[in-house]
Amino acid sequence: MTRLAINHTIHCKDEKATAEAVQMLAKAILTFYTSTPMNPKSLFISLDGDLGAGKTTATRYLLQAMGYGGKVKSPTYSLCEEHILDLPNEALHVFHFDLYRMQSPEEWVDAGLLEHFARSEYPTLCIIEWPEKAKYTLPTMDLAITLIHPQETETELARTVEIAAQTPKGEAVLQSLSALP
Ligand code: ADP
Ligand code: MG
Repeated sequence: MTRLAINHTIHCKDEKATAEAVQMLAKAILTFYTSTPMNPKSLFISLDGDLGAGKTTATRYLLQAMGYGGKVKSPTYSLCEEHILDLPNEALHVFHFDLYRMQSPEEWVDAGLLEHFARSEYPTLCIIEWPEKAKYTLPTMDLAITLIHPQETETELARTVEIAAQTPKGEAVLQSLSALP
């Protein structure tokens, strides 16, 4: 079977459009967790983009669209925030990282945070802002999302969201995203 290299680019004219784009992604991710057999059940997503590009905002909309009713605050100071979401038959543990303030990759390894990428006790979703700070310690991300805040030509509110699949799991999510009506 030929594997497809899938990339998805969405132009969002304002924050509402970003929320809608992320809501579609949330549907595709939920489909993935509920219908794809896998062991361990995990998905890794990196979020690239400048400060203020909308990485935390997009994560907030994503988790809300996946049914999370709690507060999604920025993990800038804590490095990692954990949220537990209800899937139809199990609990999904979401680990939201922001490594912006990390001085060296050893910091999160020593803090045991990298272990969240190897959990087998429960399904996990790891979302990571500023992945480049983790350098060589980071496993391959299934989806790499880049938020671009176009300067000059566009309004203050416009963003471009690029989603690239980097593994077969990432491809499965993007395939179901493309199949959404
Ligand atoms: P980051 O986590 O990338 O540093 P934040 O999500 O904290 O960025 O901040 C993005 C800011 O930009 C928020 O104040 C948000 O309300 C605002 N914003 C304006 N337009 C958009 C848009 N189209 N998509 C996402 N955020 C937007
Ligand atoms: Mg942020």
